[in-house]
Amino acid sequence: KRTALIAGNWKMNLDHLQSIAFVQKLAWSLGDAKHDFTTVDVAVFPPFTDLRSVQTLISADKLLLTFGAQDLSEHDSGAYTGEISGAFLSQLECRYVIIGHSERRTLHGETDEVVAAKVAAALRHGLTPVICVGETADDLETHGPSAVPVAQLRAALETVTSAADIVVAYEPVWAIGSGQAATPQQAEQVAAALRAVLTETLGDDVAAKTRILYGGSVKSGNIAGFMREPNIDGALVGGASLDVAEFSSIARFE
Ligand code: 13P
Repeated sequence: KRTALIAGNWKMNLDHLQSIAFVQKLAWSLGDAKHDFTTVDVAVFPPFTDLRSVQTLISADKLLLTFGAQDLSEHDSGAYTGEISGAFLSQLECRYVIIGHSERRTLHGETDEVVAAKVAAALRHGLTPVICVGETADDLETHGPSAVPVAQLRAALETVTSAADIVVAYEPVWAIGSGQAATPQQAEQVAAALRAVLTETLGDDVAAKTRILYGGSVKSGNIAGFMREPNIDGALVGGASLDVAEFSSIARFE
């Protein structure tokens, strides 16, 4: 059985001081709940400017929480003003990096090619990419539920070899920040199609061990339904990851 992953994408929220208070409170809350990190990994994805603070706190207090970044450059170093290299993130002990979030695709023009190059960059630096795919409401109407996410995943895996450690996040764009989550059945249908892409491109072993997350208006009230689905291994949580008690409940599927 795959270890579940509950991931909190903070987006552009919480500065580095707030990040320290937040991670401390989250660790206490999970500790109070006797959270079993061997069955459910919990990861936070703070803004770049918080990563050093979060790393220092997690390593000083030997917390079992893990963390990652929300984006990275496809390049390793050089004249790329404002960009952040995967090498820097792995030096900061980031375990994961989110790639191809719909907000990057739509607000920053990230194409499938850019996403594939970023996935390759993450893997070059020993980071686990959390590859985001998902259809808009228009896509859903025009192409049905799985076509766009399946095509995005195929493109993102262009250079990935079968040994790679990756996570896939299915986030329907219409469900992000809308309060209107997909139903567990809708999410499972797409997750199953995404797992079939993993089987076809990377083989049975990788498909069997790769975690597929659902994201889009996840909260404590709906997480349990998603976690009952066979192809859904966790959640990528936005808004509800900014509230310690709520995020901690989500990590317990309650
Ligand atoms: P919400 O949970 O706020 O809908 O955001 C989902 C998301 O985009 C996580 O990456």
